Amino acid sequence: MSDTFEALGLGTELVTELASLGYEEPTPIQKAAIPPLLAGRDLLGQAATGTGKTAAFALPILQLVGGIKPEPLKPLALVLVPTRELAVQVCEACHRYGKGLGIAVAPIYGGQEFHRQVVALRRGVHVVVATPGRALDHMRRGTLDLSGLRIVALDEADEMLDMGFAEDLELILEGTPETRQTALFSATL
Ligand code: AMP
Repeated sequence: MSDTFEALGLGTELVTELASLGYEEPTPIQKAAIPPLLAGRDLLGQAATGTGKTAAFALPILQLVGGIKPEPLKPLALVLVPTRELAVQVCEACHRYGKGLGIAVAPIYGGQEFHRQVVALRRGVHVVVATPGRALDHMRRGTLDLSGLRIVALDEADEMLDMGFAEDLELILEGTPETRQTALFSATL
C-alpha cells in the first residue's frame, strides 16, 4: 500500500496543506478510499470516528472539484451528515485542506437562519456540507440546485438512517444527476 499522500494520487496543493497540518502519512481508510474516489468510482466505506474518515472523502472531493468554478446556488459536491456539529466540523476540515486550491465551502444546517446560508450559496461554493432536513428545505425553496453535482458523500450514514432521515436522503438524491459519484461512510455496514 502507498505510504504517502502523493502516492495515493493527491496533488501538490493538498499535499502541502497536509504537511503543514503535520499529517505524516495516510491512515488505512485514507489509503483504501482515496485512489478509487479519485478514479471516479463509487465507494462504500466502513470507518468509525477517529480513523481519519473525514479526510478519506474530503481530500478526493476537493481534488475533483478544485479546478472548477462553481455557479451560484449550484455546488459541485455535497456532503450529508447527521448533525450540525458534524456539519461544522467537516466544513472546517474541507476549508483547512482546501486552502491551497481556493475551495469555497458552506455549512447548511437547521437552527441557523436561512438568509445567511443563502448568501453563502449565492456566492457559489464548491462544497456544501449539510444535514438532510435543511438541505431539502433549501432545495424546495429553490436556493439549492443539485443538478450540477459531481459527487455526493454520505457521512455516518448509519446515524442518518437511525435518526429517520431515509426519506429525506432519497428525495435529496433524486435531485442529483445520475452520473454523480457516490461515497457512503458508515461505522457499521
Ligand atoms: P476523523 O476520523 O475524520 O474524525 O479524524 C480524526 C482526527 O485525525 C482528526 O483530528 C484529523 O485531523 C486527524 N487526522 C486525519 N487523518 C490524519 C493523518 N493522516 N495523519 C494525522 N492525523 C490525521
